Amino acid sequence: MQAAVYQGAQRFDVREIDTPEPRPNQVLVQVTRSAICGTDVHAFMYDLAPAGAVLGHEIAGRIAKLGSDVQGWDVGSRVVAGGGDPPPGGESPMRTDPRYNYRTMGFGGSRTGGYAEFTLVEAWRLQAIPDAVPDEVAALTEPCSVAVHAVRRSAVKLGDTVGVVGAGPIGLLCMQAASAAGATRLLVSEPAPARAQLARDLGAADVINPLEEDVSERFVELSDGLGPDVIFDCAGFRDTLDQAFAAARRGGQVILVAVPWEPMPLEPADWMAREVDFRVSFASEPEDWRVALDLLASGRISGDALVSEASFIELDQIQETFEGLMQPSSQLQILIKL
Ligand SMILES: [Zn+2]
Repeated sequence: MQAAVYQGAQRFDVREIDTPEPRPNQVLVQVTRSAICGTDVHAFMYDLAPAGAVLGHEIAGRIAKLGSDVQGWDVGSRVVAGGGDPPPGGESPMRTDPRYNYRTMGFGGSRTGGYAEFTLVEAWRLQAIPDAVPDEVAALTEPCSVAVHAVRRSAVKLGDTVGVVGAGPIGLLCMQAASAAGATRLLVSEPAPARAQLARDLGAADVINPLEEDVSERFVELSDGLGPDVIFDCAGFRDTLDQAFAAARRGGQVILVAVPWEPMPLEPADWMAREVDFRVSFASEPEDWRVALDLLASGRISGDALVSEASFIELDQIQETFEGLMQPSSQLQILIKL
């Protein structure tokens, strides 16, 4: 099968590798759509992925082969590779290791991921894709589950004003999830015009350009001088977390969703007297995947809006695509068509 094998030093090699054989409790999934995740772009950019790894975890596909012990699934079924509850002992070390460190331990890489024609998945992980959800939207279930997880960890309630910093795929999904959770006024900060427009199309009351305006000041002005109730940092750039704290309402909340890979300067004296609460949200739980699939199927979160003709690339365009994504970009969601 064709796979994009990471070579180290920001290089992919698209080449033929052996199609893996499912172990008794695994299925072989033929990948149809594989979305490119910011986490993988970071892994590429900072050379965090081990050489030989096949990245990609935002996939939709069809079951191609069942392991000998797998029951309840058929060859040909449309599936996403997440949302099932792990069996005892099957939990990720991210959740169970008491001293888990994402920076030093996060990119274990022997598994063959979704930037390949086929991938192996433990059968317990699988969720069937609802008929109403096309493959390119189903491939967004993982990032959507990250947004759902962030909103479920937040204090967002009916009538809240919510700020979202960064309208990449996670930010756009987060604002929609916050809206589904009851937020009635959405304020977004995003410099790329195409992303800003999409945020408006998806219901943002105001989208400000952080390169031209002071994010904190504008968020406060646009929320009656109080500041948003909850702000999601979906950018994780140098100044965004401090901007979020500076803008949040007294007693409000900041949720860090993006994973910053560099230190972020903070100026607590500016905002700590307002007793702003801080939470982080990391990845997602199986339940969040199921909620995400429901929200995508019902249209309460639009995955379609993130996908256009320009979203699709071929596997052999992965090198130039990742190089492009390292720059602050105007691209929306990018998916590999397999
Ligand atoms: Zn992802």
